[in-house]
Amino acid sequence: MSDFAMYHALGQGPPNPNGPPQKDDPNKFRPPVAPSPGGYQQAGGPASSNVPNQFMAAPNQNTPPALEQSYFPPHQAEQDMSNLTGQMGAVGLGGEQAPHARHHKKKDRHAYHNIEGPGGSSQAFNGVPQAGTPTQFLNQGVPSPTAAQWQSPQITPAMSQFPAATTMFAPANPTTSTQHAARSGMPLAGAPALSSQGRVDPEQIPSVPRSRDAPAKYYLEHVYPTMEHHLAPPALVPFVAYDQGNSSPKFARLTLNNIPASADALASTSLPLGLVLQPLAPLQEGEQSIPVLDFGETGPPRCRRCRTYINPFMPFRSGGNKFVCNMCTFPNDVPAEYFAPTDPSGVRVDRMQRPELTTGTVDFMVPKEYWSKEPVGIRWLFLIDVTAEAVNRGFLDGFCEGIMNALYGGVKAKAQDEESTPRRLPKGSKIGIVTFDKEIHFYNLSVNLDQAQMLVMPDIEDPFVPLSDGLFVDPEESKAVITSLLTQLPNMFSEVKNPEPALLPTLNSALAALTATGGKIICSLSALPTWGPGRLFLRDDGNIHNTDAEKKLLTTEHPGYRKVATKMVESGIGIDFFMAAPSGGYLDLATIGHVSAVTGGEVFYYPNFHSPRDMLKLSTEIKHTVTRETGYQALMKVRCSNGLQVSAYHGNFYHHTFGADLEFGVIDADKSIGVMFSYDGKLDPKLDAHFQSALLYTTASGERRVRCSNVVASVTEGAADAMKFVDQDAVVNIIAKEAAARMTEKSLKEIRGALTEKTVDILAGYRKNFGGNNPPGQLVLPENLKEFSMYILGLIKSRAFKGGKEPTDRRVHDMRMIKSMGPLELSLYLYPRIISIHNLDEKDGFANENGHLRMPEAIRASFSKVEEGGVYIVDNGQICLLWLHAQVSPNLLEDLFGEGHTSLKQLDAFQSMLPVLQTHLNAQVRNILQYLEQTRGSKALTLQLARQGLDGAEYEFARLLYEDRNNEAQSYVDWLVHIHRHIQLELAGQRKKEDSDGLTSAGSTFVGLRTPYWG
Ligand SMILES: [Zn+2]
Repeated sequence: MSDFAMYHALGQGPPNPNGPPQKDDPNKFRPPVAPSPGGYQQAGGPASSNVPNQFMAAPNQNTPPALEQSYFPPHQAEQDMSNLTGQMGAVGLGGEQAPHARHHKKKDRHAYHNIEGPGGSSQAFNGVPQAGTPTQFLNQGVPSPTAAQWQSPQITPAMSQFPAATTMFAPANPTTSTQHAARSGMPLAGAPALSSQGRVDPEQIPSVPRSRDAPAKYYLEHVYPTMEHHLAPPALVPFVAYDQGNSSPKFARLTLNNIPASADALASTSLPLGLVLQPLAPLQEGEQSIPVLDFGETGPPRCRRCRTYINPFMPFRSGGNKFVCNMCTFPNDVPAEYFAPTDPSGVRVDRMQRPELTTGTVDFMVPKEYWSKEPVGIRWLFLIDVTAEAVNRGFLDGFCEGIMNALYGGVKAKAQDEESTPRRLPKGSKIGIVTFDKEIHFYNLSVNLDQAQMLVMPDIEDPFVPLSDGLFVDPEESKAVITSLLTQLPNMFSEVKNPEPALLPTLNSALAALTATGGKIICSLSALPTWGPGRLFLRDDGNIHNTDAEKKLLTTEHPGYRKVATKMVESGIGIDFFMAAPSGGYLDLATIGHVSAVTGGEVFYYPNFHSPRDMLKLSTEIKHTVTRETGYQALMKVRCSNGLQVSAYHGNFYHHTFGADLEFGVIDADKSIGVMFSYDGKLDPKLDAHFQSALLYTTASGERRVRCSNVVASVTEGAADAMKFVDQDAVVNIIAKEAAARMTEKSLKEIRGALTEKTVDILAGYRKNFGGNNPPGQLVLPENLKEFSMYILGLIKSRAFKGGKEPTDRRVHDMRMIKSMGPLELSLYLYPRIISIHNLDEKDGFANENGHLRMPEAIRASFSKVEEGGVYIVDNGQICLLWLHAQVSPNLLEDLFGEGHTSLKQLDAFQSMLPVLQTHLNAQVRNILQYLEQTRGSKALTLQLARQGLDGAEYEFARLLYEDRNNEAQSYVDWLVHIHRHIQLELAGQRKKEDSDGLTSAGSTFVGLRTPYWG
């Protein structure tokens, strides 16, 4: 029992078990001029063994990994799945049956984790390959952390001069990069992809879990240097970036880090050229904070011609008197106050003291000319629905509790020493509270009052703001008034219980209250707003799916909501909604959520809100929305090198006319924007291509700043080299965002068809142009797009696009979410991580020798992987299920849930977190959940039980097994076969553009649209 202290410390103490080690932290190493890479080097000897089967035979036994070269054939840049087609006849069945055969063999191997036993004693099944599985295909993607290829690269002399702006950026050679991205497993050229039955072996098709787990292990111990390596880690993998002048992929990801020189060359790949931006992305522990630079009255130096901000890629000439713009090549005079001489190599002598010349992402403080109004600390205005449904279902209670949790750490924290509680909101920020049902109620929260004063505004036809002082207050000063009001609200309105909320008038008064300053609104809603001006009605009766009318339900023509949205953006206001449909009813998210989408906000949607189960999620998400990095009154502009131009933007914002800046009422850490580029000329392969995004915003603390992110890519004459530096996550993100943007114009069927076509185009383009000498019957996948097909299948199966019935509220919600999701959140949304917890290694879920959490490997999203008696965490970043097999061991249940819980029926169906118990398993799982909680987007991680045969959430479990046939779409195996068939037709010149439903030419309906690849 002596180790309880250890895991309790891990589970609850240090906030980040996955963070960098406390001592000798390599992640904090930050060389001034990148001299010696010593700090990056892995100490310790290389793997000594060269026995290829050792690792495969016991992957979880903590055996020193072996096999260096054969895991990483030096120039293995692709994978083929030979004879996939040859087996097509048998294939429809193959996918499902092979694993079942193995499944039975495993049956008797479900040893339940024996917590007292020594390591490995009773863990018979730990992912050990089963008989009959061709062992050479197992676990080959797992890198050896000590293998030479996984060590940080040597910094060459050329690199150590980096990033002198005059030297050309040369990406790492393909081999390094390939290994770096941990995609080198499965060296299958020429190897038959068959199981012994002669069918397609589902084990062998590219594995999303493997593509994440291997790099995740690598980046536990290594930093990602943003110039030396030019292919970002997979988006879901936590990593510490070292900004060397090129922005971290957390802020900006290019689809192609090596860009074809001409439009024709790009077209041969069918890939989009785009940039996924997440300008306020959160940093990971161990990463350098973003420098904030103040150039005083003059503001930051900018190119006089194209207004690009000064950055690490602008060379200085004429002894330091000129700086040459890296976008338009204009030679600018250096302002006198910014002058510094250059050394003989042309580098400014003060360069290392100038973060704007060495760092890819910086914040510039900006002077008055960048203001449209006096910047002040952000105003948070909470609009609280107090109608009957909100009261009855506990939503009002939860929302008030959530606000207190966000502001003060919850009711319980009140009892603690007031002085010791740190301020949650930055100084200068203020909060206001408004409640609404058929009327609107304002509250004076002035610190001088004993309790809040309510001012009722009965005239909802012509609402105004009835008080000027006391509406917005400092949350710390007025803490007593605020907490007492929020505590009383549920009781106060339990007497009233008006059934119908008047939402639009409330939004209009909120707009009036914030017009002078801008700010952010947080609004709860639990019923369709059917009262007063702008009342809405039930549009979706559930009977118009797959019709043109359905398309209308996905958008809104409501003039009142459209107008308030536009006005809010103009005034620098954005809104997050917390919408609950306790009885599963229709809320017209299309209309209400439109206000969030246009103003840069977000909708948190609880389609089957259940108190108390969902209270923790609600509360945690309110806290997240208030405490995450938030800017308001924002404008964004993206600039690129001569020869390229912006062709489209995708995301949630207001765009007045094409060419104008993007406008955001608010923008926060979780929001991302997709930018697409087209050619207006030819790029010079001797030069690099540059991109800069500039977000002008006011911080929550009231500073007007510009967040600049700079990205560089090399240029290549042909497209073959470009394929080696494809960023799969960026490609998927851009395609998903554009598909979501098309949803209001095209039918769902057309969009699914276009996604299929696009997948075929990209993979056929690769096969045609760069596929090498592989036999024609093989499916050849680009090394860096191996899991691309699976992610697109996940997109086709997502709530936004899937076939079959789906309430339009849910479709619209997911569609808008996809438009604003960053690469990490989207990756998880398109393919969940599934972790089996009934057969954990005893070391899983605890710190390794370097203090990093050891995570078990994830399994494929397929029922064929589910074991009898098994228990699984299924997390797609939106919800997190705990699925329990009907025959789960009573011992396991007791270890996980506490004594007396020996059968599924005894568990509380509405629990949302695990109890804290002193068992090994319980601590392991809590640690694992904590890790998952830290690598996600905007949604809180709370558990929802899905007990086999008992809970409705089981349907969601089945829906998320994206490798199986579900959501009215194919299994992964069948999907690959389908794609392959069409690639072969394309190669034979016989491809008819058909959509996945077998109807004609969805692709052709996209012709003429601005962006190139939907045509
Ligand atoms: Zn310029």
